Amino acid sequence: MIGQLLPILTYGSELHGNPSEEASRTARRFARWVAMGYQGSNENKIEDITGIGKLETLTHRKRIRWAASVYARNELELRPRAERILREELGEEEDVILRWMEGTEGNPREEGEVIQTEERVGYTDGSRMEGVAAAATAEKAIFLGTLATVMDAEVLGIAGAWEEGYTVVKSDSQAAIKRCQNLISAIQEPRSWIDERVMRAAGRRGGVLRLEWVKGHSGVEGNEKADKRAREGVARGVWESDPSLATPAGIRQAYQLFEKKKHMKWDRDELRGLTYLHTDKGPMRHWLFKIGKAEDPKCRCGAIQNAAHLMMSGCVGGKRRQWEQIWDDREFCGEVTRFLRNQGEMEELNGGGG
Ligand SMILES: [Zn+2]
Repeated sequence: MIGQLLPILTYGSELHGNPSEEASRTARRFARWVAMGYQGSNENKIEDITGIGKLETLTHRKRIRWAASVYARNELELRPRAERILREELGEEEDVILRWMEGTEGNPREEGEVIQTEERVGYTDGSRMEGVAAAATAEKAIFLGTLATVMDAEVLGIAGAWEEGYTVVKSDSQAAIKRCQNLISAIQEPRSWIDERVMRAAGRRGGVLRLEWVKGHSGVEGNEKADKRAREGVARGVWESDPSLATPAGIRQAYQLFEKKKHMKWDRDELRGLTYLHTDKGPMRHWLFKIGKAEDPKCRCGAIQNAAHLMMSGCVGGKRRQWEQIWDDREFCGEVTRFLRNQGEMEELNGGGG
């Protein structure tokens, strides 16, 4: 349910330019309404439980992703706007953007035919460790950094090998080989400066190039070397604080629009039960008594009716639960809400707990 409503909320705030105070308040009210957080419940906790993040963050990500897609689709007329958005949203990472734009405009390379007659076999590999990527041939590495995917690295490795004059290039990534073949035969359009580099490198060789797959981590010497070189490239770039070379796919990966939270799939009763149990604030008698809305803090069984009681006593569904289970126990959380509703003391509060 939230998964469906959230895009509408972010879209609404997008229409008004930057997310306004009002839109953020609406999102928070919405989160409260969904989870029916009671008086005194922690706002961040409710956002966490419902999966509704800060609207500012979502809009920020959405703008960055939109700008990245403009570059990926090569929409020239939208570029100035995309460029402005990137400067606004990624302000302090200006270096990254400048380099990205340089890359997108195409790395200028010296013109001139390279005539190659003998066959030279080279190996390539791409690596991504702890979110940092690098591409490599057996001889050298190119640092990509945090805004590129492992696929970008694999493909750049192939382009690099061709640029170095290899005619037979061996990669352990079938996906990257396929991608390069599709680019060369114009089945797919270039989507980044890396793709353009592949096409340029291949175009200069005119059909003498061959791509071959080699099984990774199987002791093939050239492949092992390229793999080692790529991993060294990651470590060296991090050590020397080299700036990242961004790609649209890398940006999409780094700025995911919606984190896939499993709770976004839960229904309202389930989310409410989870909120009550987690915050220990809700229509259980202990809390209602505390805020002056019930005469008695006790359950029908005679014990104090708080979150712990609901979980441990077996009053709900006759089964005891562990605290660490409640995040996953969708069914039980729904049961808690229904149990409390059946007590007749749960009011449907308008706009969340009062
Ligand atoms: Zn009880």
